[in-house]
Amino acid sequence: MINLYGLEMEKLKKLMVEEGQKPFRAVQLYTWIYEKKATSFDEMSDISLKFREVLKEKYSLDLPKIFTKQVSSDGTIKLLLELNDGKKVECVLMRYNYGCAVCVSSQVGCNMACSFCSSGILGKQRNLAPEEMVGQILTINKLLEEEGKGQRVTHIVVMGTGEPFDNYDNVMDFVRIVNNQKGLAIGARHITVSTCGLVEGIKKYAREGLQTNLAISLHAPNNELRNQLMKVNKAYPLEVLMEAIKEYEAIANRRVTYEYLLIQDVNDNKENAEELIKLIKGTMGYVNLIPYNETNKNDYKRPSGNRIHAFLDWLIKGGVNATIRKEFGSDIDAACGQLKAKVEESL
Ligand code: SAH
Repeated sequence: MINLYGLEMEKLKKLMVEEGQKPFRAVQLYTWIYEKKATSFDEMSDISLKFREVLKEKYSLDLPKIFTKQVSSDGTIKLLLELNDGKKVECVLMRYNYGCAVCVSSQVGCNMACSFCSSGILGKQRNLAPEEMVGQILTINKLLEEEGKGQRVTHIVVMGTGEPFDNYDNVMDFVRIVNNQKGLAIGARHITVSTCGLVEGIKKYAREGLQTNLAISLHAPNNELRNQLMKVNKAYPLEVLMEAIKEYEAIANRRVTYEYLLIQDVNDNKENAEELIKLIKGTMGYVNLIPYNETNKNDYKRPSGNRIHAFLDWLIKGGVNATIRKEFGSDIDAACGQLKAKVEESL
């Protein structure tokens, strides 16, 4: 069975033509599933009974099941979703004043093994299929609809568990499905993909012709420190990463966001700030500071509020645009780096 939610418009058109249909059939199907929110082929009244039978035989409209749902005091919702094979992934809904953002997972587990992150402890179990990422958005949309406040998902960040560029093609199909006008119609500028720095992925992404955003998890301003925190830096050291970022900026004509975790006494002193300023000066990006969320899996600590603000000031005085990441749902372990479904399950 082919899951209809996993098909990007061009692929669906091609399949429809192979079925002896007009390409327009694909548009009609998108309208049914994304606009009219049909959950079965029987509802698709303007498609012939005969072809509906064909669709039922070959295609499914399966969505992940909600395994657990946690609601934070700030309204953040964390879902643990169960996939067809029983594997579980998390996604998080964050409510900003400008809209509803979902933090989407791209893999079950993660192979990047960053020393500070809970998602990578057990390695990667498997990639998520496009429909399993679309399913995260549709499930949250359904919850929003049930709330009855007329809200829906308006922003997507691929910043949950997994490394999106280690699952490149599926993530791109996902982006195209949610961005498509006949799909979920989420504006490209409201979609952000975050990478730990897989250089081939960055170069490819630059050439996709999308107006979506790119975030880079930088976390350290020199190779020595970055090697300690992120294994990926040994494969793609900072000079290689920065070249790729410059190439991205030139080709896509977009600026990147640098994510910089602040960990007490590890990467949060003035010298680190100065090095960071130097490192990114030749690029157009701005810095999003993420105060470290402590976990019981390592000894890293969050710096004091004073230190976090001092670091911000150092950057701003050095001519770098920077902000402190707003935090959601830390009381339900839904904040950055706290997603660890697979770990909880097996420990
Ligand atoms: N693999 C991608 C997508 C994951 S995004 C990437 O690395 O960008 C998740 C973000 O949360 C990354 O910037 C990651 O470095 C950060 N993060 C991981 N553990 C964290 C923690 N304990 N506290 C705060 N942020 C954390």
